[in-house]
Amino acid sequence: MLPKFSYVRPSSIDQAVEALATDTARIHSGGTDLIGCLRDGTFPASVVVSLGGVDGLRGITPTADGGLRIGAMTTIAEIAAHALIQEKYTALAEAAAVVASPQLRNQGTIAGNLCQKPRCWYYRGDFDCLRKGGEMCYAYEGENQGHCIFGGNTCYIVHPSDTAPALVALGAIVRIAGNGSSRSLPVEKLHVPPSDDPQRELYLEPGEIITEIVLPPPTAGLKSSYRKVRSRATWDFALAGVALALVIDGDAVNNAQVVLSGAAPVPWRATKAEKSLKGSKLDQETIKKAAKAAMNGAEPLSQNGYKIPLFEGLIKEQLEALA
Ligand SMILES: Cc1cc2nc3c(=O)[nH]c(=O)nc-3n(C[C@H](O)[C@H](O)[C@H](O)COP(=O)(O)OP(=O)(O)OC[C@H]3O[C@@H](n4cnc5c(N)ncnc54)[C@H](O)[C@@H]3O)c2cc1C
Ligand code: SF4
Repeated sequence: MLPKFSYVRPSSIDQAVEALATDTARIHSGGTDLIGCLRDGTFPASVVVSLGGVDGLRGITPTADGGLRIGAMTTIAEIAAHALIQEKYTALAEAAAVVASPQLRNQGTIAGNLCQKPRCWYYRGDFDCLRKGGEMCYAYEGENQGHCIFGGNTCYIVHPSDTAPALVALGAIVRIAGNGSSRSLPVEKLHVPPSDDPQRELYLEPGEIITEIVLPPPTAGLKSSYRKVRSRATWDFALAGVALALVIDGDAVNNAQVVLSGAAPVPWRATKAEKSLKGSKLDQETIKKAAKAAMNGAEPLSQNGYKIPLFEGLIKEQLEALA
């Protein structure tokens, strides 16, 4: 059952920031994640602040330098269907298209997708685990089939967002409004690894709101893609997902971003794969090497070793498709 909270619907960012000043105030965008968390008692809320009435937070518009601005309240469905995103920022359109179900894509927003809470079944269940302020991680020696193979340090979640790895690969930034100020942050620096703080997911201060996402102008020769593997042929989170952004000149790779979902507590840059791709001809030899390099240093838990060959196969197929 939903707990009692007061509901505020401000009409400006300043009013929203003010309403968020209470300790356990929560932002509500589409509500597809927030309401489930409140209903399940994952965390409390005294005030729920809807951004639905704030002007200027929706829509996709070109920027003066040839990039793209996506308002924080833009739905995942709008992003998946946007012709310019499909053409120039393909990885983002492909990632948005495989988020959840059509109903959730129509309701869920891009900022909510970046800021959603982890899906670890212990965290979402009745377990007072480390991330919830308890003393231990139940997944480490428990049911950890869906957990991370990189970056686990006291907490072994995987970051649940499909759009976040695509936005990291494409070099996007978020703009953030706070108490009397605004700032920008690369999406790559938005999520907190457990090594920094296992009880925090975002480098946002209390009261801060993501207002927009900005994509840089696409570099000539940019090809990008996103694909994920799930455990069933219907809506589900990624067991393994790969966002690629390659800048190809002739048959050589000038630049490469390889970002994994379902692999780590944050969108995970496979930097060794990126290094092995840069400056190489995109042939079978390079592809095989890059797929292996991506898994270098993986530390699977007792039940998720299957992710290593899964990622290798996925990366190989994705690179072959772009070659
Ligand atoms: C059944 C189900 C299946 C799903 N499958 C997938 C999937 O396959 N892939 C995937 O990526 N996601 C999946 N999701 C998650 C879903 O995509 C996200 O819940 C959705 O995009 C969140 O957007 P929202 O606007 O509804 O967020 P909300 O529920 O409104 O908010 C989510 C969180 O973000 C915070 N927040 C929202 N907006 C802002 C903002 N502007 N600034 C700062 N913080 C903010 C909220 O306080 C809250 O903590 C699934 C969810 C469900 C319920
Ligand atoms: S992986 Fe993280 S969220 Fe899951 S039980 Fe362990 S500490 Fe909690």
